[in-house]
Amino acid sequence: LSRFPVFNFAGGPASLPRLALERLREEMFAYGAHPYGVFEINHRSRVFEELLEGTQQGIRDLMGLSDDFEVLFLQGGASQQFAMVPMNFLRAGDTADYVLTGGWAQKAFDQVRHFAGAHIAFSSKDTAYDRVPRQDELSFVPESKYVHITTNNTLYGTQWHSYPSTEGIPLVGDASSDILCRRMDYSNFALLYASAQKNLGPAGCTLVVIHRPFLDAARPDLPEIFSYKSHVEKKSILNTPPILQIYMISQTLEWIKASGGIAAVEKENLRKAAIVYQALDEHTDFYRLKAEKASRSIMNVTFDLPTPNLLQAFLTEATAMEMINLKGPRVQGGVRASLYNPVPYAACERLAAFIDNFAKRNRS
Ligand SMILES: *Cc1c(COP(=O)(O)O)cnc(C)c1O
Repeated sequence: LSRFPVFNFAGGPASLPRLALERLREEMFAYGAHPYGVFEINHRSRVFEELLEGTQQGIRDLMGLSDDFEVLFLQGGASQQFAMVPMNFLRAGDTADYVLTGGWAQKAFDQVRHFAGAHIAFSSKDTAYDRVPRQDELSFVPESKYVHITTNNTLYGTQWHSYPSTEGIPLVGDASSDILCRRMDYSNFALLYASAQKNLGPAGCTLVVIHRPFLDAARPDLPEIFSYKSHVEKKSILNTPPILQIYMISQTLEWIKASGGIAAVEKENLRKAAIVYQALDEHTDFYRLKAEKASRSIMNVTFDLPTPNLLQAFLTEATAMEMINLKGPRVQGGVRASLYNPVPYAACERLAAFIDNFAKRNRS
């Protein structure tokens, strides 16, 4: 554990709660009182069933969902959900609404054409995805089978702070990069998915929650591995599930509970984002913030420096100060500080002080 306290601002795979990693280290060799480790749990055993059911219930509790929601842990990443959503809910000739607020939203939209048509309800592409829409900027088509949004735009650093009303059309969301970051009303979603490697656990598993009435509308005539109905009928054990990831998600949920629950996590995340944005806002003549203020994400803070040389110097100095993975994503460049749940306040404090100091030293 000598790597602590290096502060990791990676966009994903991201830093994990120390408590979860410590539990894994212990239980890798012996899971609970069992004579085998986490990697070796048999997925057809009662032991796994309990782990799975406990994790599903933990998700419902922390997301505030009723028993009317099915909870699945699938493989193939959020990217597989980009295809599974239209595959399950659209037939040739059908349409769905997509809200294009970033690169991942665009990728989700691009998959629809393999199955049906799609309508763009809003796009901020022309302004480099600098914001999410206001309610009055959204236009849905009445025959739409669902409306797809990306709750947090990981690459561009924007986030929905309340979810849109959709005129009775089922709401589908990709919450990969902000699931469980604060109290949100998830009960409005017909389906919500999140790949694990940002706020939930290691890569290789995707949380999918589906409201049962929406599930009833899914096509039954699909290969079973791509069918939500089949996964639900087989109780998430249609094939060998990602046991390690489910275990790590269960540990992350335990850590959230031990930290005081979702309200406490929210409070901490708001403090973390505030101190970083405040440092940037004091130097708007130096840093260029990429997201419009009202759309700013509390999970991914994106900004640029005046020149490529200054950007390089910023990243090099930050690394020397044990703040790693601040380099922005390929499509965006600049700096991206990801402040997911396990990133501590102390990391944000150090980053904010550095942002301030760097601007003062390098301002021309
Ligand atoms: C990371 C991310 C994805 C991609 O997830 P994969 O597991 O790599 O498929 C999709 N959507 C959003 C919003 C993300 O942040």
